[in-house]
Amino acid sequence: MRILIVEDESGISNFLRQGLEEEAFAVDVADNGREGLDLALSGNYDLLLLDWMLPGMSGIELTRQFRRDFPQTPIIFLTAKDTLDETIFGLQSGANDYIKKPFHFEELLMRIRVQLRGKEGTEERLSLGPISLFPERHAVQKGEEEILLTQKEFALLEYLIRNKNKVCRRTRIIESVWDIHFDYNTGVIDVFINSLRKKLNLQKDEDYIQTIRGVGYMAKEL
Ligand code: CA
Repeated sequence: MRILIVEDESGISNFLRQGLEEEAFAVDVADNGREGLDLALSGNYDLLLLDWMLPGMSGIELTRQFRRDFPQTPIIFLTAKDTLDETIFGLQSGANDYIKKPFHFEELLMRIRVQLRGKEGTEERLSLGPISLFPERHAVQKGEEEILLTQKEFALLEYLIRNKNKVCRRTRIIESVWDIHFDYNTGVIDVFINSLRKKLNLQKDEDYIQTIRGVGYMAKEL
């Protein structure tokens, strides 16, 4: 899951980036509205976190322009403005939720997870053969057995399962699971894939994570 933060106070954006990366999100940051809109319109993001008052273009204007092309992507405002009128204005402009500064990171994280949850409101469960992955709880099971994964292993497995039965190219994996600015030493993927296969204890007849030689990997339903 990739999140774009548009925030001109570097103290806040650094804090958010670090916290979200520790939760296995991939994060990009823009410090002004115009750059934020350009990045957002790339369509690479699962959610936007927008400051209200930004140089270049306000969070409200950014939202209006973004919404023309992306009606569904969740947007959460980070705002010091908290009067009722302004909040309603923000939500009417196309945001899904807002959080007032100063805020607790845990509360923001909860709001992000609510926005990213499937619309039905039940806990999302991704499956691949006997493997189940629960994004909200960061839990993975094989059958009844709990599998403990690191954040990156978890993010990698989530990415592969969300793209099940499709070939995932190495560069796309890196961009989604690591950082867009990561130097392209895609060999790191192999290390994590090996570790995932070990932890999931995949046997010879359980080739759920397949190597597509020269291209990447594929989570395959057998
Ligand atoms: Ca600001």
